[in-house]
Amino acid sequence: MTDDEQRGAASGPLDAAGAIAAASWPQDEPIDPREPTPADEATNALWRARLLGTDPGLRQIRRTFGRIPSPPRCKVCSAPFHGPGRIFTRLWLRGESPGHPLICNSCIGSLAKHPGGAEIEISIVFADVRGSTGLAERTSAAEFRGVLQRFYEVSAQAIDRNGGIVDKFLGDGVMALFIPVLTGEMHAGRALQAARELLGGASRLRVGGDILPVGAGLHTGIAFVGAVGSGDKLDFSALGDTVNVAARLGSVAAAGELLVSRAAWDATGLPLEGASFRELEVRGRATALEVIVERPSDVTATT
Ligand SMILES: [Zn+2]
Repeated sequence: MTDDEQRGAASGPLDAAGAIAAASWPQDEPIDPREPTPADEATNALWRARLLGTDPGLRQIRRTFGRIPSPPRCKVCSAPFHGPGRIFTRLWLRGESPGHPLICNSCIGSLAKHPGGAEIEISIVFADVRGSTGLAERTSAAEFRGVLQRFYEVSAQAIDRNGGIVDKFLGDGVMALFIPVLTGEMHAGRALQAARELLGGASRLRVGGDILPVGAGLHTGIAFVGAVGSGDKLDFSALGDTVNVAARLGSVAAAGELLVSRAAWDATGLPLEGASFRELEVRGRATALEVIVERPSDVTATT
């Protein structure tokens, strides 16, 4: 990547995206505040077309790969990394790229060549294991690793079935994106279904004889989606306040709970009657966030 391309990656939409997730952005690299050049504008137009579906290329390739089992997949092109599909994936030179377990070699090359992205409305699910430090102490390392692996599989399948992308596996959690071009216009509803299925599946996992305690959060809003970071840290992901709010909901949900922001619930078009509400204080926000609380392992009709 040339210096000019690196500056291109760090200007424009990233500045406008608001809060940048500290974990995914190298802190020691200054962000160049220069105005976007015509080249930046062209790259961003290309990304917008890709992510909004006016460019059919990405959607078609994902449809093809998406039919071949099984997850986890390349989060950009959907090439399968496990199951029988991994043979095809390797033939097409779309194996997992070193250092980026959820992006294939071909897509990471393309991201490096065309860094950029677009601000679009997406839905985001965060789910993770509650009190995992205590759990790890009470069980053997092998048992804990085994149940975490099962949790990742259950999560990836629930996300995959509902047209989402596993953005990353965190230490003991998962972040998933539901992007209109890939998931469809009803991305909030499909993200809700994925979160319900994820928690329903996790409620069948046992650790030390108890149900694996997992909580989840769902939020819908505008986020920057595209190539983030640079060099070894280059990734395809989402950034901004919407991501931070989803992460916050996922981190405060109790075991078995799904916290859905009011914005996400409204986007699903579901009625509010009968929903259970809670007000949450979120750091940096003047007003409390209204969330709908579900316990999906009890919502058996939806799984
Ligand atoms: Zn790929």
